[in-house]
Amino acid sequence: AIEPAPGPQAQRIAVFLRLRPVARPSGRIAASPQEGWVQFDVPKDAAQGLINNSRETYRFPFDGLLPPDAGQGEVFDRVALPVLRAALDGYNGTVFAFGQTGSGKTFTITGGTERYADRGLIPRAISALFAEAAARPGHTYAVHISYLEIYNESGFDLLEPGREVRALEDLPRVNIQEDDSGAMHLRNLSMHRCDTEEQALNMLFLGDTNRVVAETPLNQASSRSHCVFTLHIEARRAGADALVRRSKLHFVDLAGSERVGKSGLAAHTQLKEAKYINLSLHFLEQVIISLQEGRTHVPYRNSLLTMVLRDSLGGNTRTVMVAAVAPEAQHIEESISTCRFAQRVA
Ligand code: ADP
Ligand code: MG
Repeated sequence: AIEPAPGPQAQRIAVFLRLRPVARPSGRIAASPQEGWVQFDVPKDAAQGLINNSRETYRFPFDGLLPPDAGQGEVFDRVALPVLRAALDGYNGTVFAFGQTGSGKTFTITGGTERYADRGLIPRAISALFAEAAARPGHTYAVHISYLEIYNESGFDLLEPGREVRALEDLPRVNIQEDDSGAMHLRNLSMHRCDTEEQALNMLFLGDTNRVVAETPLNQASSRSHCVFTLHIEARRAGADALVRRSKLHFVDLAGSERVGKSGLAAHTQLKEAKYINLSLHFLEQVIISLQEGRTHVPYRNSLLTMVLRDSLGGNTRTVMVAAVAPEAQHIEESISTCRFAQRVA
């Protein structure tokens, strides 16, 4: 028999702000890691007839502030380790990175490839998962991994065997089916049993290599999709065969939230992508706010992302969001809009 998840935990979403390092700090952004706030000074537009040098100041509080010099290890300990430990105890969890393209979402979730010290939340969670599981007496754990990419509201399996030889149009779409009892099932998303840290890291590497829309220096197109890496954890009591607990931990690298197309020069494809991204971020916000307010109707069905995360947001789960900010002066408007999103879902 499957034990119910343990008793309820706090349902609030913890929201962290992470500032990416920058060559030349702009002087228009101030932050207090101790007090957990960030502040932006926006010059008023002289062209609009306002007095020169007059400024508007915006300050946003966070559960935690990760300054430019925060290391990947510190970010893991503060952001993901509590969620991972809760997952081993049977709670579902989700860790999001949110922000404009170039703000450090992928560096946070997956990490940099150049230095070992740069590895991000997923590889660190994998290491910690196998280490903690081995150190917990009385239980044995089985780990499966899935890796989903959502592009323009279509789901693609990043771990589908043999997918690299096929064209995008030929790939099966991941979709959701509801059974007679109302339970949702993901179709066409493969699950991979991993018994060691190395096997799990290989899955991450394979999935990253398989991202549908490859990234080139000129084309940051992979920033236009959402990626969901999931650790499926099953716990059994040692000696007994019966499954006692099952939980899921999602790592979500959200599509870049920047506005495009205002100039009228954006290509048709970019406008279409932007429309899907704006909508799915809007639906995600609606779902989170409905959960926070304890509403009976939660609009999960509006997007594939919210359907996939359905049982891992709100309720008896742990949710953490990292708002990623690019501290250059020219990104101030996007940074403020990232902080506003973070405040709305917090
Ligand atoms: P996003 O996924 O939000 O588009 P990336 O994670 O790709 O942004 O980051 C943009 C660039 O900045 C990359 O070259 C990345 O390696 C670098 N970068 C981001 N955050 C950090 C950090 N904390 N320390 C060092 N380099 C970083
Ligand atoms: Mg990215």
